[in-house]
Order: sequence, then C-alpha cells, then structure tokens
Amino acid sequence: ATPTAIMVGTGRGARLGILAKTAEALQTAHDVKTVVLDKTGTITQGAPEVTAIAVAAPACADDVLAAAACAEAPSEHPLAQAVVACARKRGVPFAAADDFRQHEGGGIEARAGKTRIAVGNARLMDALKVDVAAFSSHAEAAAAEGATPLFVVQDGRAIGMIALSDAVKPTSAAAVRELTAMGIDTVMLTGDNERTAAAVQRACGAGRVVAGVLPADKEREVADLARAGAGRVAMVGDGINDAPALARADLGIAIGAGTDIAMDAADMVLMRSDLLDVPAAIGLSRATMRIIK
Ligand code: ADP
Ligand code: MG
Repeated sequence: ATPTAIMVGTGRGARLGILAKTAEALQTAHDVKTVVLDKTGTITQGAPEVTAIAVAAPACADDVLAAAACAEAPSEHPLAQAVVACARKRGVPFAAADDFRQHEGGGIEARAGKTRIAVGNARLMDALKVDVAAFSSHAEAAAAEGATPLFVVQDGRAIGMIALSDAVKPTSAAAVRELTAMGIDTVMLTGDNERTAAAVQRACGAGRVVAGVLPADKEREVADLARAGAGRVAMVGDGINDAPALARADLGIAIGAGTDIAMDAADMVLMRSDLLDVPAAIGLSRATMRIIK
C-alpha cells in the first residue's frame, strides 16, 4: 500500500463525506463480503410516526395515547418520542410518571399515582403475561406494512395498540442493489419483530434479516457472521445500541449525524445519512487498492 494512494483515497473520500479514520479502514473496505445494516435510522429514517391506534371499549383512542405518552415521556427511545409527540400534537394531556423502568428490546413500564402502565412489543407482553389477543389482528396488519405495533397496558389489561411507521430512506433500496451488484451480501439486523422486519426487507431488498435481536446481542450476531465464513464483515449503524457491533465488525461504519458513541466505535464515518455512501465507500477502497497493487 503506497502512502500516496491512501492519501489520495482518503482525500477523495473526505470530499464526499466519507471519513476513513485510519489508512487500515480504507484498505479493509475493499474486500468486505457481507454488509450488516441496522434497520432503524440506517435503512429507515429513524423518525417513526404514529399511523394507527386500535382501542377496546370503554377506552377511547385519546385514553390509549395519554397512558402511552405518560409511560414513554421519560424514555429517549425514538418510538417513545414519537408517541409523546403524537399526544402533544393532538392536544391530549397526559400525567407525569412517578416511576419507570425500561425493558431492553421490549418496552417500558411506568407508574403514575396508583395507575400502572406498560407499553411495548409482543415479547414484553409475554414477559408480563398480558393477553393481547384482542389486538393481534390489528398488530399483524400494521406489521405487514412495516409498522411497529406497541401494546398499551393499564393495570394489567391491554387497552389498545399503537402502530408506528418509520419510512425507508429513499435511496436504501438502490444502495442494497449496488452492494449486491458488487458481489456483497446484505443482512438487516434489528430489535424489531419478524413481521415488521420482513416488510422492511421487501422494501429495501436486503438479502437476509435477523430480527428480535436484543441490544446486547447485536455484537454477537456480527461475530457469528464472521465465524460462519461470511468473509470480511462490515457493520453499518447509527445508534448507541450499535456501538459494540460496530467495534466488533472488521469494518464499523457509522452513518449520518449518528451518536458520538457510534462514531467513536466506528472505523469509518459517513457524514450524510445516505446509504448509497456505503457502496461508494467500498468502491473508493477498491479503486484505491487497485492503484496500490
Ligand atoms: P432497534 O434499534 O433495532 O429497533 P431496540 O432494542 O431499540 O432495537 O428496540 C427493539 C424493540 O423493542 C422495538 O421495536 C420496540 O418494539 C421495543 N421497544 C424498545 N424500547 C421501547 C420503548 N421505550 N417503548 C416501546 N417499545 C420499545
Ligand atoms: Mg438504530
């Protein structure tokens, strides 16, 4: 590897907003065989919006939203923020929670006065032994469209379901197509449920999906892929959740104005949040290595 070629490649990348932290990162990228893509905020915009609320009498949609917003207000999760934003936008008042507990990869439990509230996915409902049968067809319909269904529970009883949709970025499908054309396998990794993940996979064309992954297990999934002989593995992510996986991958790529933690853990930072910069970065590396050889 001639230092001049690396310097030229690094400079060209920088002008495109593709920042290789080290010469090694720029070199490693050329023979990546598998690209693992985080779903939320990487393939999708990472800005979910409430698209539907299902409710069982005697509760009304505003009751469901008020309970959910109360429990979610202390959480920094994008889904939580979307629920709170929806309540505010609709002018639905909600109580301040006295106490709350986050369940990793599941949702949140909170207490407001004597009322206990839980908001989360089917996994959390299983853990809390809450019967959500009344809302399962609504939840399945939402998931089939790529939305994330959250069940809302008050004092142990499911009172509603909120569906949140996070749009796939306009260039994600083109980016996956380009990677595929370069002979690279794509894997979407997400904490979200199987059905929602399958719908997003259809929208972006990712070759494989690993869904329902707990934050702590993303790193292991990346390590497993590398062991399974998937060649050099790159991981693309934006969140705090993704940092260990970014560090573990042969090439960690932080995308967009991601979190500082993700950017610290990565070997490469893409300044724009356009997934097309992933094939661009690998293409740049291939061009650089061709000059070198
Ligand atoms: P990812 O970033 O891959 O979506 P997370 O672990 O952050 O993974 O979330 C996985 C799933 O856990 C979400 O799709 C949601 O169903 C549930 N979840 C996590 N945090 C919350 C929350 N604060 N409120 C409701 N559901 C949550
Ligand atoms: Mg994410």
